[in-house]
Amino acid sequence: MAYDDSNIFARILRGEIPNDTVAENEHALAFRDIRPQAPIHVLVIPKGAYVSYDDFAANAPDAEIVGFHRLVAQVARSEGLMLAEGSAGFRAITNAGDDGVQEVPHFHLHLLGGRPLGRMLA
Ligand code: IMP
Repeated sequence: MAYDDSNIFARILRGEIPNDTVAENEHALAFRDIRPQAPIHVLVIPKGAYVSYDDFAANAPDAEIVGFHRLVAQVARSEGLMLAEGSAGFRAITNAGDDGVQEVPHFHLHLLGGRPLGRMLA
């Protein structure tokens, strides 16, 4: 699937619509989900144009992949989700394509926590 830069996260990156920013670095932006599924629900997106996780993992430059994951870790720490720092846990997921029920076609990782999240796979 080709990247369509009219998607809502591309518009957030361009500053066309507001967002509740949690953290940002050179390569990625983290902001709160508008329909939170848990007390902590942060989306982390790369600043580059990638449709989905597989596109990002296959095609992003190494520095962007590292920068993205470092921002995930920074947010986990600032939101109190780091296991090494006493968190009871969290979930990090990414939905891809139709079967994954991906709504926004710009790769994003959901970071969820703040309550027991239950089993995801039955
Ligand atoms: P997914 O594409 O199904 O993985 O999920 C997209 C997520 O983006 C959903 O959890 C939405 O609530 C969230 N979302 C959609 N529009 C906005 C927005 O403008 N700001 C923050 N989150 C959004």
